[in-house]
Parts: sequence; C-alpha cells; structure tokens
Amino acid sequence: MIDRYSRQQRVAGIKAAGQARLAAANVLIVGCGALGTHSADALARAGVGRLQLVDRDIVEWSNLQRQVLFTEADARAGTPKAIAAAQRLAEVNSECRVTAHVADCSANFLHELGERPDLVLDGTDNFPTRYLLNDWCRQRGLPWIYAGAVGSEGAAMVVLPGGPCLRCLWPEAPAAHDVGTCETAGILAPAIAAVTAFQVAEAMRLLVGASTTRGVFTCDVWRGSYGVLPIASGPAPDCVVCGGAEFPALTAPAPSAVTLCGRDAVQIDLLAAHRIDLDALALALQGRVQELVRTSHLLRFVADGVRFTVFPGGRTLLFGVQDPLRARALYDRWLALR
Ligand SMILES: [Zn+2]
Repeated sequence: MIDRYSRQQRVAGIKAAGQARLAAANVLIVGCGALGTHSADALARAGVGRLQLVDRDIVEWSNLQRQVLFTEADARAGTPKAIAAAQRLAEVNSECRVTAHVADCSANFLHELGERPDLVLDGTDNFPTRYLLNDWCRQRGLPWIYAGAVGSEGAAMVVLPGGPCLRCLWPEAPAAHDVGTCETAGILAPAIAAVTAFQVAEAMRLLVGASTTRGVFTCDVWRGSYGVLPIASGPAPDCVVCGGAEFPALTAPAPSAVTLCGRDAVQIDLLAAHRIDLDALALALQGRVQELVRTSHLLRFVADGVRFTVFPGGRTLLFGVQDPLRARALYDRWLALR
C-alpha cells in the first residue's frame, strides 16, 4: 500500500502529514445520490479513514446516469443507496471504514448519531435538510460544506464555525415551487462533478488543516461559467442561529410518515408545518406525472408507479408503497417539500 497515495502526497499542501490527517478523519455524508456518491468515492480514494453515509432511498434506473457508486444490479435489486454505496466503497478502498445508515436524516437521527464527525458534507436534494445540517453543525461547532445542483447549474459553500452560515445568506429556505428539482428541471452529471470537485477539494483542505475558500462557488457547465461570489467574513447580525441559542430546524416538530395498517399505502402528515398550494402544485406537475386530477377537495396523480393523493394542508396518501422512508423520499421528490 506504500504507493497508493504517492501521486496525491506529491501535491504541495498534502505531503505525508496531510495524508496522515486524512487517514484519521471522520466525515459524515448526508445523502447518497449524485452529490453524495461523487464525494464519497473521491474521499475514500483520497484516503479518508472513516465515512458515515446516510440515505433513506433505494437505487433506481434513473440514478445510474450520474450516481457513480451504483450499478445495474443495484437498480434491479432496489438496494438501499447507503448500503450499495458502502459495498462499492469497500471494493474501492478496504482501508476506509464505512458505515451505512439507511435512515431519514432528521434532528432525532443527528442527536442519536454515536460518533462526532470532523466534517459534514451536504449530499441532499432539499433545503429543509440543509437547514437542519446548518443548525446542527452550528450547535455542535462543526464545519459543513453545502452543495447543490439542478439542470446544468450548481453551487457550493464551506460553512465554518464562526463564519457566515446558510441562514446568514438565505434566512428562509426558498419556496418549494421556486427551486427546481432534478425531477422537474433535470440534471447533468458534469454539473454534479463540478460542484463536488469544489466540495471535495475544500474538504481535503479543511481536513489537512489548510484554509478554505470564502464565498459561494457557482457554475453553469452548459454555459461554461465558473466563479466564486464573495460573502461577508462574519455572520449576519440578524441571523437567529449565529446570534444566539436558537436552532429552528432542531426544534421544529418532526414530520410523520406512517404505513397504513392492512393497506399498501403510507400517510404523510406534516402537522400543518407547511401549507401546500394545490393549484400551484398541479401547475408544476403538469406534463411530468400521469393521471393528474385536481378536484375541489384534493390533488391526485401517479408518479414512479405510486398514486399520490394530496389534501389541502398537505396531508398526503401514497398508494403502492409500504416503506415510510421510501414514501418520504417520493413525497419530497414530487412535492419538493418536507
Ligand atoms: Zn448564520
């Protein structure tokens, strides 16, 4: 194994000391989709000693275009993404200790996480989970690296303890229908590669003790534009999380998803934490789902082989699915909320 990291160690800033720090590092990667699999693959190959992976979904055929750790066999079997990723990483680097958590990354999950990571990487596809990571990392004094990509565009940013946080830049999560998702706007694999190149490089800099980039990395790989938008050096004065002891995402009521007894269905009820505009949702889904019906009482449609029934206030029934985690993933995908 002597030569394994020889090319990497020749790079100024890594050397033998940096390689040893990578081997001792513990990184939590939340989400094992396109972003998470790219970053996990790169960090395992770079010699990071400990990876904790979290994902609640299963591998599907439409993932294979960009989610680099998965194979056709995983899609055929519907393997949980965290498990499939961990199995592949064990083949990539047997010295990297990988733990797979097939779970929803909730406040409760984070509170019960046994090991404190040195760094958290955002591999999620939704803002509520990013705000949760932001608040949890703030509370624990942990660094994390935001990353997101939709269509041909991407963005990423290092969030350090003491520096500006995600809420400093965007106090509220963007409205559900204002931000596209990979289901509605599509996604190009090079956009993922560009964003995770920034995310992984910054992770390595941070883990070896070097300074990191201040600013928001943005790219549009189809236009060929890449840059870093400057940000303030410190937290925003009115940021509730940076200003004191308030961590809204950690204290919000937990959303519920329950399998309906005796039926091939799951009910998701967010306890009116989010209102859903059924007319706006129907408009956004037009042409992307099957059997879309808006009645005065509800919105009904079929997507991914599952029949959704959405009520005013957001309560949703999903027919054709029994696993609550899977139902939550489909709910977030098609309603872009949680
Ligand atoms: Zn802040």
